[in-house]
Amino acid sequence: MVPGVCGMTKAYRSVSGLWRLYFVSVRCALLAGSLLLAMPAEAQFAPGQTLLIDADDTLWENNIYFERAIAAFISYLNHKEYSREQVREKLNEVERENVRQHGYGLVSFRRALVTCFESLSTGPITPEKHERIMSFAQSIADQEIELLEGVAETLPVLASRHRLILMTKGNQVEQVDKLARSGLRDYFTAVEVPREKDPEAYREVCGRYELAPHTTWMIGNSPKSDINPALACGLHAVYIHHPYTWVLEHEVRDEAPAGQHFLEVESFGDLVKWF
Ligand SMILES: [Mg+2]
Repeated sequence: MVPGVCGMTKAYRSVSGLWRLYFVSVRCALLAGSLLLAMPAEAQFAPGQTLLIDADDTLWENNIYFERAIAAFISYLNHKEYSREQVREKLNEVERENVRQHGYGLVSFRRALVTCFESLSTGPITPEKHERIMSFAQSIADQEIELLEGVAETLPVLASRHRLILMTKGNQVEQVDKLARSGLRDYFTAVEVPREKDPEAYREVCGRYELAPHTTWMIGNSPKSDINPALACGLHAVYIHHPYTWVLEHEVRDEAPAGQHFLEVESFGDLVKWF
């Protein structure tokens, strides 16, 4: 080999080796950084808390199916004078009344659709129309359970450190069935399905399980059912925003009284930073 070429090759090898060393160092630094990011931050609250956890729109999607069914219903009604918004407002009114009389759930929703159709439609409900209206509600019952982001990974971690109790309002049979289909049942030591999640319901649950308010938290997406009544009973609360929370669950969130915690997190997965 020509000496000059050999010298150049050595020089090339030496430069190449430096670059390789540089790239290996950078890759190691990036890997270490990504491992640090992947590790959960140290939890802020000691193990042994009791976490009451909401289900619909906290653990799994729910209201988006109702919104789709309602959109289909309004299109089918095709009202000549009322706008879509006006029909929706009428349906909200009927639902409020139905919930008062019959509770939450699909049975109540079916009734609301029929009542709304009867009051707004000019003609009678024929068997065919009735069947079609029922199909809008049935489309919700036929939905697979779709867990929200981070739930599948986070619940096992929370269950290993704390006592978890599912607290969801609605129809007992429907909610227990959804929990069974979700595959999450084993993470909860108990399941509570009150008719309404008001302060009275929270007091009952706290009494039944002898929960100490200073180590008990309600976690959910509804200011009306999860946050405000829990704070009113002396519990801590964690709000997880869901962009499609049912309009009847909207309410201004109360301030946490002195000595109680109120947290707001972006997603269910963020709970490991606190618990
Ligand atoms: Mg909810």
